[in-house]
Amino acid sequence: EVSVIPVLSRKKRNLLGLVVVMHDITKLKKLEHMRKDFVANVSHELRTPITSIKGFAETLLDGAKNDPESLDMFLNIMLDESNRIQSLVQDLLDLSKIEQNDEIPKEPISLTEIAEHSINTVSTVATKKDIELVNKIDQNVVSLGDKDKMTQVMINLLSNAISYSPRSSQIILTVKDVGDGQIISVQDNGIGISEDEQKRIFERFYRVDKARSRDSGGTGLGLSITKHIIEAHNGQIKVESEVGQGSHFIVKLFNE
Ligand code: ADP
Repeated sequence: EVSVIPVLSRKKRNLLGLVVVMHDITKLKKLEHMRKDFVANVSHELRTPITSIKGFAETLLDGAKNDPESLDMFLNIMLDESNRIQSLVQDLLDLSKIEQNDEIPKEPISLTEIAEHSINTVSTVATKKDIELVNKIDQNVVSLGDKDKMTQVMINLLSNAISYSPRSSQIILTVKDVGDGQIISVQDNGIGISEDEQKRIFERFYRVDKARSRDSGGTGLGLSITKHIIEAHNGQIKVESEVGQGSHFIVKLFNE
């Protein structure tokens, strides 16, 4: 946006020149665009399961409820779709809380304990796919941070690794102290992520394969939440990956 302001001489009101002011609104425009995209995405993500629940409820009321097999199947779909809405709302709440309050109250936390707890939490899902969770967690690795949020980071990364890995593969969780900070890393032998997509996966709602992500219960918000949490902890997250070979997510937390 450009404004042109005339400069006049005091007495004769002659035009001495023009001052051209250029406002940089590209940043504002970009933010506004992102906000609109976000609202559109949220609406779409909510509308899909709601439409499905409504459809199945109507079909049941129209008579399908009299067939026990349909009744059971439709109710199960409705339950799955309700769970999807619940996870989406939970993720949105988490995201908005983190964004509002960028400073996370920090206290000494044991990354070793958090990692062990996180492995236990995801172990049943891993076992269902016959995936081995390899524990490379060093003892007594301590950092400053928020225990619940760091647990969420580890569970997000492990759950993704499980979702995007084939049956009977391996996932390695490493936690170690590296002198100037701590490293948490999750390495899988799954489908991998292309270089172009690696740049985008931390964006809200970005998924490489929407259908696959939905099938595994994903909302497309997990990595965005993870990145926010890590940055609020004065840390960094990066991914190294090759399509068909696997992915390696590496978090580094820095000592104050
Ligand atoms: P989702 O809920 O879809 O898993 P995330 O924000 O956690 O959302 O991840 C965004 C996208 O990044 C996923 O949809 C998937 O395409 C890709 N992704 C994340 N983790 C992995 C992984 N370990 N291997 C391959 N792709 C992954």
